[in-house]
Amino acid sequence: MAFAMCEPGAAMPDLKTSIADRIRAKLDAGDLPRLGPKKMWGGFGKNNACDGCGNPILTTDIEYEFNLGDKRTCRFHISCAGIWQAELRRRGWVHGNGAPPRGRSLPGKETT
Ligand SMILES: [Zn+2]
Repeated sequence: MAFAMCEPGAAMPDLKTSIADRIRAKLDAGDLPRLGPKKMWGGFGKNNACDGCGNPILTTDIEYEFNLGDKRTCRFHISCAGIWQAELRRRGWVHGNGAPPRGRSLPGKETT
């Protein structure tokens, strides 16, 4: 009878806090890389947690995986990877091809 549909503590996503919001928060906190990956692999998931939304990437889902320079490996659902990369671009941290921005004017170092 008291069969719980949503176990407390099971990280049931609050759909009002969208995955995009979560990814933005992680970017704000520095938990997600702010640079685009040089290489990315796609494949089926291995039930590892997604670095974007935190949910497992099931073996029936496509997983995007890439290495960061510091040997850390990031995994995303394909949709989460898209949100993450779009957010990087939106913030101007990467440009279209994932390269870091260049020649941005820094505060106090502006040439007019
Ligand atoms: Zn995800």
